Amino acid sequence: MGDTLKTYRPSEVEQYAFCPTYWSLRKEGWTTRIATKATVAAMWSTAAHAAFALYQKMKLDGCTDQAQLLTAAQCEAAQVYVADFNHYIAAGVNFGTLDTDDAVGDLRKLVANYTKSCKLDASRGWQVVSVEESLDGEGTTRPDVIVRDPDGILCPVDYKIKRSVNPKWFDHQGWSDDFQYSHKQLNYIYLLQEDERVGERVTKNRHYIYAIAAEPFAQTLTAYDIVDNYMADWYESARRYWKRMASGADEGIMHPTHKSPYGMCEMLDYCTKGGAGLSYIKVAKRSEE
Ligand code: SF4
Repeated sequence: MGDTLKTYRPSEVEQYAFCPTYWSLRKEGWTTRIATKATVAAMWSTAAHAAFALYQKMKLDGCTDQAQLLTAAQCEAAQVYVADFNHYIAAGVNFGTLDTDDAVGDLRKLVANYTKSCKLDASRGWQVVSVEESLDGEGTTRPDVIVRDPDGILCPVDYKIKRSVNPKWFDHQGWSDDFQYSHKQLNYIYLLQEDERVGERVTKNRHYIYAIAAEPFAQTLTAYDIVDNYMADWYESARRYWKRMASGADEGIMHPTHKSPYGMCEMLDYCTKGGAGLSYIKVAKRSEE
């Protein structure tokens, strides 16, 4: 499917496609001093992802002791959550009255339910092949899980984890068509097809959404098959984005209305009021400390 080109994280492509200025600001670490709902939700979901990953990695390493798996995964969730929270606090982000004990309690319950009834189970015909494995050699493009599904197809699985059920949780089609999600999954399928280590061509362009709500606990695992034409068109389009991002061609271009798909852009006051109004701070990525 063409020559090698620098690729970018799907979340970055989404930001860039929305507004190149937003992409630049986020890359520099700028965020609102008061934590947004999205930051709070992302922190919780990141901790759940880390716990699920540890659980699956330990199983891949041969651990079968369910009590040990559960304890390790719950500890991981709590540690990642608290470490992220402390990182933001140390950087000066204000979380108001956020109840961290409550959040960690919900994480523990979620992990217990996941480990008890995980759908990616060998008894149901699933084979977990790898967990958070980097497919691009740079450590940035890592599917949550790569599985061989009950049809024998090698494909990526993406968790969508919500602390409570909201209207979006029921909108699977909307999720599957979400820019970041769709771009991410197609990127993974493409990289799997290109990966010489796989040793076989992926026979079908398939990926899964594994949607999990914590309270009340509910889970669905849904397959999406992508036709070859769409795969090829997506790749051409993705290449053009990656090229523009690498060249700096759109540096400084602002989105004309400042409205994102999730509501008004949180950087509005930064861009339009020269720092007056809401205040902003720079938070380094935890991995960069
Ligand atoms: S406020 Fe407007 S220009 Fe600034 S980052 Fe957001 S969308 Fe882009």
